[in-house]
Amino acid sequence: MSEKRWWICTVCRYMLHEVEAPETCPACRGKCAFIDATCYTPECGGTAYPDPSIVSRSIGASATWKLT
Ligand SMILES: [Zn+2]
Repeated sequence: MSEKRWWICTVCRYMLHEVEAPETCPACRGKCAFIDATCYTPECGGTAYPDPSIVSRSIGASATWKLT
């Protein structure tokens, strides 16, 4: 299985569409944790699209994420 997923950097919220999350964020160049923001339901279009609820939640939660 090598299906592309949507990933969001938990530090800078950079989004990318790749099979695996990168070890180093291309945007903030940190060793960031990426969360899977892929849509897994038909409501947001399936895995070709990011899930808007995860995207908005990740932005709202970013203030509590640890910045290292
Ligand atoms: Zn980043």
